[in-house]
Amino acid sequence: MTSPADSTIDEAVQALAQGRLVAFPTETVYGLGADSTSDAAVARVYEAKGRPVFNPLIAHVPGLAEAEPLVVMPESARKLARAFWPGPLTLVLKRRDNCPVSLLASAGLDTLAVRVPDHPVAQRLLRAAGRPLVAPSANPSGQLSPTTAAHVREALGDKVQVILDGGPCRVGVESTVVDLSGDRPALLRPGGVTSEAIEAIVGPLSSAGEGPLRSPGQLESHYAPALPVRLGATEARPGEALLAFGPTGGGVRNLSPSGDLTEAAANLFAYLRALDRPEHSAIAVMPIPEVGLGRAINDRLRRAAAPRPSSGKP
Ligand code: AMP
Ligand code: MG
Repeated sequence: MTSPADSTIDEAVQALAQGRLVAFPTETVYGLGADSTSDAAVARVYEAKGRPVFNPLIAHVPGLAEAEPLVVMPESARKLARAFWPGPLTLVLKRRDNCPVSLLASAGLDTLAVRVPDHPVAQRLLRAAGRPLVAPSANPSGQLSPTTAAHVREALGDKVQVILDGGPCRVGVESTVVDLSGDRPALLRPGGVTSEAIEAIVGPLSSAGEGPLRSPGQLESHYAPALPVRLGATEARPGEALLAFGPTGGGVRNLSPSGDLTEAAANLFAYLRALDRPEHSAIAVMPIPEVGLGRAINDRLRRAAAPRPSSGKP
């Protein structure tokens, strides 16, 4: 596996200590890392991404022990942490009074999202930095998430001091976000750990779909390529590029010819990117089953296909 030299990790740690931005690989997507304990560094992340300041950030730590001083952990949180950390699960919990993470990362809420990434380069960086790092996906807000170092360089190269290259991301979709700060566990975002696996441990998850917007990650248009996206396609119409799935797919790109959802998730953002070219009129996507990782894939695709607020088009 691609892995940066110790001297490059040192350089990244120095950049972070100076409040600068460091892109690093996680098993989900590449993150835009900054010192979460510095207001100025966290503000720089929002600025570099053009991220709305009401959309809070996840604090990344190397292990459960480093999460404990930040947030109040009910038994359900410890159970999930033991089962899925390190891994693609984010827990939203009440901030401790003396939580060192900048309030900007919580975007005015009394909660903080925490995660322990399962990537050797992320682990090395977090241990060397010795402090929690905020690390939203390293892309301009609303656009496709990066799953290689080259994607980061293209979109944010001039805003990042160091880009750590750890090769392509294994999981390829963002973490599952579960809110444990209320009475009942709620799923705020489907992701790399399936809701089935989580429910096996903490029981039924209430869905964030009902009631008030609990997580800005529920924003309708997100993860969007430049081209329009058409879902539920059985074939490409003239001018369209086809993003296929399964053995009958064929197509320019097939997320998984054998119909494997893990493989499809890992390919999702890179293939959308590859098809997002001006010679096409739209990206037509074949149906993906709504089970397991398919829920996370369909969540991203629905947002990619949602009306874009900035375009003014329907
Ligand atoms: P990103 O880092 O861009 O993958 O997004 C992090 C996700 O976690 C977004 O959907 C956020 O809205 C969500 N999130 C982060 N912090 C909180 C929080 N304190 N409460 C609710 N959702 C959060
Ligand atoms: Mg993102």
